[in-house]
Amino acid sequence: MEEKIVNISQEDIERQYEYMSLMKERTNAISLEKGCTPKVHVLTFGCQQNEADSEYIAGMALEMGYEKTDTPENADLIVVNTCAVREHAELKALSITGQFKHLKAKNRSLKIGICGCMVTQEHRKDDIKNKYPYVDFLFGTNMLWRFPEILNESFERKKRLFYFDHESSNIWEGLPVKRESGFKAWISVMYGCNNFCSYCVVPYVRGRERSRQPKDILRQIECLAKQGYKEFTLLGQNVNSYGKDLGTEYDFSDLLNDICAIDGDFWVRFMTSHPKDASKKLIDTIAKQDKIVKHLHLPFQAGNDRVLRLMNRKYDSKGYFELVSYAKEKIENVGLTSDVIVGFPTETDEEFEDTLEMLRKVEFDSVYSFIYSPRKDTPAAKMEGQIPDETKKKRFAKLLEVQNSITKDLNSEYVGKTIKILVEGKSKTDDDKYTGRNDKNRLVHIDGDDSLVGQFVNVKIDKADTFAMYGTVIK
Ligand code: SAH
Ligand code: SF4
Repeated sequence: MEEKIVNISQEDIERQYEYMSLMKERTNAISLEKGCTPKVHVLTFGCQQNEADSEYIAGMALEMGYEKTDTPENADLIVVNTCAVREHAELKALSITGQFKHLKAKNRSLKIGICGCMVTQEHRKDDIKNKYPYVDFLFGTNMLWRFPEILNESFERKKRLFYFDHESSNIWEGLPVKRESGFKAWISVMYGCNNFCSYCVVPYVRGRERSRQPKDILRQIECLAKQGYKEFTLLGQNVNSYGKDLGTEYDFSDLLNDICAIDGDFWVRFMTSHPKDASKKLIDTIAKQDKIVKHLHLPFQAGNDRVLRLMNRKYDSKGYFELVSYAKEKIENVGLTSDVIVGFPTETDEEFEDTLEMLRKVEFDSVYSFIYSPRKDTPAAKMEGQIPDETKKKRFAKLLEVQNSITKDLNSEYVGKTIKILVEGKSKTDDDKYTGRNDKNRLVHIDGDDSLVGQFVNVKIDKADTFAMYGTVIK
């Protein structure tokens, strides 16, 4: 699929600010009429890139005069930001959107919009058009920057709108953002993907790889570091391709070095690295820069070479293991995590054993494991030899069993040691506790109070299980 890369001009962004002003007048009028400020509810499915996009949707909505609400029942505007990576995520988004129908019946002025990867597919756009008549507008991933214009038009034209263009990939700067956290920030450094792994829908819904200019990224991080942000997670589908489209020699390691030169006490994370492009230069950069966390998320997807070839991953298990061994040698106490797919078409039980073998050999801190989900129009979905659900589930359960035991053993090695964590907030599972994460992204529960939130603290680990560690703050 040929796609154009379009740099959205500053004038085009300024026009969006004009639409935001027009919307602000409209929301002011609504406030006067209703006696309270209209509210926006943004619901996000999927990966960190979607979370980052939702922060821009919320930022634009706030600029247009809305207030945020976590309760859809109170909302005057609902935006559902969808994911398409697996069928499960799509069905969930569709089912929740379905539940909003009754809200529209109660509040006729409610606007409902849907965006993101799921609706950047022709057949899902048609589903929304035909089966969800109460959805007012839809926009694909390439149209995010036009959200103010689309919303404005939805009020003016009083007709349903479908903004969809999967033939261009664009890059924009300068839109308002409302970050969920006051100390952790997502920073997209590039968008899209050129890899076309045979199972994956991302290149079709997110367009071609394009990098933001280093100066724009550095300026943004400098500003946030001054505000006291403590963690930056650089996002891209394959960050090791960063810069290849910029026409200079500047690469991802150069970007990391420049970020680390910014003043401030912060951690730098990034994801995702594709093993075919993760260079020794990158690993050496992680090793030498104190601000970069000693953690590498390096998805291997499958341990068997025939399956990897079918997946179009462009590395083999030997190459992957050598890369990981280099990382272990150069980065002291490196934390490794990965993504793994079970039940790829034609994968045999023996070939699945190779995946387990890779888990045992590398000893990952943790692994995100996925049951293969056929995605429309991807090569793998058309392959003969799709694996029955029962077999996929059995392999998935086995994989969890093997990995959980490895994670538990690795966690228990921390008992008695003191580690640095960034405290994130109250625990979601234990009301009395606070939680944070260490540089390897492992969850740690502590006794604490609100004053610790957003701070780095040293913690002595008292206890560990598979999913978390428990520790005491050392003053
Ligand atoms: N760009 C990243 C991953 C983005 S998608 C990378 O290449 O690592 C996140 C993860 O979802 C993938 O790593 C893969 O493990 C999983 N995934 C993608 N498509 C899938 C599918 N069709 N079925 C199951 N899992 C899938
Ligand atoms: Fe999907 Fe592969 Fe691109 Fe990752 S690298 S987003 S798995 S196509």
